[in-house]
Amino acid sequence: MIAKNKNPSHPSRAASAARMRERWADPEWRAKMSAAQRKRWEDPEFRARATAHLPGNNHRGNAPVKGTCVYCGRPGTERDHDVPTQRGGTNDPSNIVIACSSCNASKGNLTGAEYRELLRLKELR
Ligand SMILES: [Zn+2]
Repeated sequence: MIAKNKNPSHPSRAASAARMRERWADPEWRAKMSAAQRKRWEDPEFRARATAHLPGNNHRGNAPVKGTCVYCGRPGTERDHDVPTQRGGTNDPSNIVIACSSCNASKGNLTGAEYRELLRLKELR
């Protein structure tokens, strides 16, 4: 889980992401990588996840998150793609937002903008 960083040998997620970015920029470190590691790191999506500065990020990019739902303002615990992957959205951190499970479920295959519009129309009813 996030926000439990009591073990001092375990760096915070943000520091860890920063270190991953530094490593990737360091040609010596890259030269020392195993072939398997290199293959993973050459995948832009993996790199985006590994170096993302998201709350609760781990190197797989799928840790539970804790934040505020960008759509309704209630506590959010899920990652949501602003533009769904099925519609061309990527796993780049710029496309990831925090949502509550309720919004995430009802948003379905809509983009964030479309879902906000839907919420607005519901309010007008
Ligand atoms: Zn919500």
